[in-house]
Amino acid sequence: MYSKAEQVMGDILIDYFNNESLWKIDGRTMAAVFRRFDIMERYLNQAEGAGRGGAMANTIQKVNFHTHCERCRHARGKAEEYVEEAVRANVSKLGFSDHMPYYDDRFGLRMPFTELDDYLREITKLREACRENLTIFRGFEGEYVREDNAYYESLLSREDCDYLLLGQHFYERADGELINVYQLENTDDYEIYAANIVEAMRTGYFRYAAHPDLIFLNDFPWDIHCERACDIMVDGAVKYGFALEYNANGFRRGKQLYADGERYPYPHDRFWEKVKGTGISVYVGSDCHDPAQVYDGIVETAYGKLEEMGIAVRTDWIC
Ligand SMILES: [Zn+2]
Ligand SMILES: [Zn+2]
Repeated sequence: MYSKAEQVMGDILIDYFNNESLWKIDGRTMAAVFRRFDIMERYLNQAEGAGRGGAMANTIQKVNFHTHCERCRHARGKAEEYVEEAVRANVSKLGFSDHMPYYDDRFGLRMPFTELDDYLREITKLREACRENLTIFRGFEGEYVREDNAYYESLLSREDCDYLLLGQHFYERADGELINVYQLENTDDYEIYAANIVEAMRTGYFRYAAHPDLIFLNDFPWDIHCERACDIMVDGAVKYGFALEYNANGFRRGKQLYADGERYPYPHDRFWEKVKGTGISVYVGSDCHDPAQVYDGIVETAYGKLEEMGIAVRTDWIC
């Protein structure tokens, strides 16, 4: 008979070494696996010290609530393939959050509005077909735009829609003009972007803010606008008890040399240093746009980074 701890380690070994040929595992994944052992060992010690295994069980639960599929026209793979990968990777909770379609297609690069019902029907079917050990949730990742409260409410009132994630790829100026976060020329609007996110937090429509630090993908020196934008978002999350996502997809874009140092476009360490110690709920989101990314080495890297920073991660989810 194995102890619970040994069983947990055994499961991880099976996960990583049985279902994949060894030669396919790259160095980064390997490093992530071993870091995970290190993290687990510490939790096991803690759990044993406390005389219970609850903390450990929570830590190793594999979940991902930020998943796209080919319907958005810039991801590959059908929703079904993401589910297959989640099963293979022993993910226990998988949330689909494809980019929210708009009736006027104002943002482009996502599923047409006419596919909204099909998408939810498709995920519902997958959810119903799923075995006991995987729960699927149905949702969207969308921007918050003030005038559209009725739209968010209509989505959330549907029986086949479980949640919305806030993904502020565009922000709204006071005059209603929508600005693409990817097309900024300076940091002047960073506080407006941050204030948009806090406004969204207050509405209660969104489960968490996906990549709140997305705006730092722009290449500008760190300045007072960056500093204030971080403070606005962190203070807002504390005030409204709102959860933030540490986004693994930023890591997939690779490290580059920016005006404020060599770093990933996001997550930005300076933002997360401010999150540390606040008690804000933090989730890791894969933001997968390929079935292979549902719970890959990069997701493990994200968990490892947060562990290094001393930021606790949540894996529980109530819809
Ligand atoms: Zn996308
Ligand atoms: Zn996303």
